[in-house]
Amino acid sequence: MLCYNIIRSIPDSALDCLLMPAVNCELRTRVDPVEPKTFWINPYGVHFGLLKVSDMVRVDEQGKRVGGADQPINTAGFIIHSVLHQRRPDIHAACHVHSPCGRAWSTFGRGIDMLNQDSCMFYNDLSVYPAFGGVVFSNEEGHHIADALGPTNRNLIMQNHGLLTAGGTVAEAAAFFIALERACQTQLLVESAIAPGTRGGNAGIKKTLVDDVAAAYTKRGTGSPEAMYMQFKPEYEMILKESGGDFLE
Ligand SMILES: [Zn+2]
Repeated sequence: MLCYNIIRSIPDSALDCLLMPAVNCELRTRVDPVEPKTFWINPYGVHFGLLKVSDMVRVDEQGKRVGGADQPINTAGFIIHSVLHQRRPDIHAACHVHSPCGRAWSTFGRGIDMLNQDSCMFYNDLSVYPAFGGVVFSNEEGHHIADALGPTNRNLIMQNHGLLTAGGTVAEAAAFFIALERACQTQLLVESAIAPGTRGGNAGIKKTLVDDVAAAYTKRGTGSPEAMYMQFKPEYEMILKESGGDFLE
């Protein structure tokens, strides 16, 4: 149910989110602990704010329903992300949302600068998928995403599209997503402040970036799997309190 919490923590999200295998969304799925090649996924067309555990549908790697609620799912979207899971067995969860700042910064097809301590969570851990050819519902697109992510990175900016973050746990993927959305927001603010024609731009104000040594050191301390897990824990607890846990039914 952590995907639900991600959605709640990102206002005005466009919401195609995918978490796997612990929770996977085309919108949301979860690897079954008994049958690890099957996933739990949210039904198509149900608002995240209304989704409950009992609404979930269990599907195989091809997106075919094998259990859970008898509801339709977005099979094609699921298959794209199923490929990513097959290519990167270290990735147990991924989140993909068309969030406002990620979507805006993605139009530049660039990574983010090491602007501050929080940006350093993504030092040597962020890729860019520099293409968008329209909505492609195929295994091929899944392979393109996996190629862009590479063998070790867990975070991806998809040009003209949005963000995808991943991790060994749902909490890690979720914390990365929230942090990357905020990092994109910061990048947009900084770029706006020094854009040509602005007061900052006219004054010749320059960005000062964190150097490589400090960024690598900070990444180890704040962007490790353990650190990301701990960053998401209070977010989950807060949302659990706010919602009364009704989504657990
Ligand atoms: Zn998308």
